[in-house]
Amino acid sequence: MRDLSNDTRLLSLNAATVRQRWDLKQIIDGCARHGIGGIAPWRDQIAECGLDEAAKRIRHAGLRVSGVCRGGMFPAIDSEGRKKNIEDNIRAIDEAVALAAECLVLVVGGLPDGSRDLSDAHCQIEDGIANVLDHARANAMPLAIEPLHPMYAADRACVNTLKHALDICDRLGEGIGVAIDVYHVWWDPDLEVQIARAGRGGRILAFHVCDWLVPTTDMLLDRGMMGDGIIDIRKIRNWVETAGFDGQCEVEIFSAENWWKRNPDEVLRTCIERHQSVV
Ligand code: ZN
Repeated sequence: MRDLSNDTRLLSLNAATVRQRWDLKQIIDGCARHGIGGIAPWRDQIAECGLDEAAKRIRHAGLRVSGVCRGGMFPAIDSEGRKKNIEDNIRAIDEAVALAAECLVLVVGGLPDGSRDLSDAHCQIEDGIANVLDHARANAMPLAIEPLHPMYAADRACVNTLKHALDICDRLGEGIGVAIDVYHVWWDPDLEVQIARAGRGGRILAFHVCDWLVPTTDMLLDRGMMGDGIIDIRKIRNWVETAGFDGQCEVEIFSAENWWKRNPDEVLRTCIERHQSVV
């Protein structure tokens, strides 16, 4: 297992973590100032900054791009909607390529409006990924399915376990893998086995960290800083690294009532301290 006790280069900052107070330019500068090794920007932040400008600034700051957030959201109520979603994913792949990202993260989508047909949504997701996979392969941009916690199955992603994500990867072949986010998968009794399976297939493309607070007061915007909750993050990192993952640990915290309200420099200092002592 890698020793992170003095490390900042294997830390990547998901740009959502400080998005309320800083724009992307400020986040890039902040990462560089604190010696953080990577960044994972969101597409709305990239658009606001300008794709070329964002790419240039990230390169000049010497940051790796541990992932671009996000593609996915494939299911739609009609074929027109599905086509639009495919086109949007093609654009997302191109943006990730322009940023020299290590993967494009896919939050695959949930039930289309008004639908109760979960298996249809699963089919639409797999079809959608299959439709963009050739473009991703041609551009050497790995797609990373991020299984989300089941509480998001209806509206964000109805791929909720690592096993389900890996089953899809196995059916689709090369050029696709998984983003393992401790927040979404910590509860899964099958996690260790599935992480080992992902490693054997060379499928682990990203590792995201934050913590699960007890109680959690908001389904989306109450994630904890590493060490403040109940996830054994180091144990999961050990599994992931034993499975062969050697990329960055990406901190991704949505926290409307706590971390988003703080001074971003303080947030970055805390991320580094917890990366070194908890992750
Ligand atoms: Zn994540």
